[in-house]
Amino acid sequence: MISLHPAIDNGYPAAKPGFSGGTLKCHCATNPVTVEVGAQTAYNHACGCTKCWKPDGAVFSQIAVVDRNKVKVTSGEEKLQVVDPGAAIQRHACKECGVHMFGRIENPDHPFYGLDFVHTELSDDEGWSPPEFAAFVSSVIEGGVSPERMTGIRTRLSDIGLQPYDALSPALMDAISTHVARRSGVLSG
Ligand SMILES: [Zn+2]
Ligand SMILES: [Zn+2]
Repeated sequence: MISLHPAIDNGYPAAKPGFSGGTLKCHCATNPVTVEVGAQTAYNHACGCTKCWKPDGAVFSQIAVVDRNKVKVTSGEEKLQVVDPGAAIQRHACKECGVHMFGRIENPDHPFYGLDFVHTELSDDEGWSPPEFAAFVSSVIEGGVSPERMTGIRTRLSDIGLQPYDALSPALMDAISTHVARRSGVLSG
């Protein structure tokens, strides 16, 4: 069996109806950073890019979005630092264990401004939205995966119900292009 991500390899539970969030915790044994997420997440997916945080040995990360106003650091804020201040998504990571606690977009013109990126596997709460697709699949090669493994990886993703895409899913790519088209004026409304 091809191992993709520990929270995905053995199947994943469905979202719990009415689920309204929970607490994310970094991997530090003492004084962990905790982040309160006050809503259900959306667009959870496996991501193959080299920027998202992955647990040890995982080929993909698992990442979802949520309203940035629903994300609050509740302890250990002094341990957080932005991984790459130049990146569109500012990933706030724990300086001690390296886990990314949330990714935030500060540019109001960005198509996904207003949404934070979070890894719900950092939560012990059950009911989070499950992964729906796999994004940036080809990029795992940039993370060191041999190109010969790609057919097997794409087959495995499809088998477990995560349609593989080499960018984001069509719905999200359409949302980005709609944003761009409205800004340029070719699309009104
Ligand atoms: Zn930590
Ligand atoms: Zn990613």
